Amino acid sequence: MKLKIKSSDIRKIDAHALETYPHECVGLLIGTSEKGVFEVREVVRAQNTLNSPVAFEADPQFVYNVYKEAENRGLQLIGIYHSHPNLHAYVSARDAEFMKFWGHLVWLILGLSQEKIIERKAFMMRDGKIQDVELEPVE
Ligand SMILES: [Zn+2]
Repeated sequence: MKLKIKSSDIRKIDAHALETYPHECVGLLIGTSEKGVFEVREVVRAQNTLNSPVAFEADPQFVYNVYKEAENRGLQLIGIYHSHPNLHAYVSARDAEFMKFWGHLVWLILGLSQEKIIERKAFMMRDGKIQDVELEPVE
């Protein structure tokens, strides 16, 4: 599985994560998917309603609206991104719980310090197992 994402969109997500530090940021990835290849067309910021350094939640109505609006344009909600301030980009126990519901989405996770993004990784849940998704930056 692969996530194609423009470097300009990666920069948007990086900026969001750094602005939100020391809290987690959360946002949505809109695009297309075909045979395990996900392509980001648009990055949409959401609010972390928990304002927490170790957890995030997005308003379900907001997520639904973004999902519907994407569908109206022939696109899909393909992923969620969030950040891990002062931690690595890994699937936490809490993330894994949510992935049981949202596992058909790509989970893009950023590990960062106050100054910079340390790592970016993407995951999906397939058959109850967490799998790596290869990140492919495109121009
Ligand atoms: Zn997390």
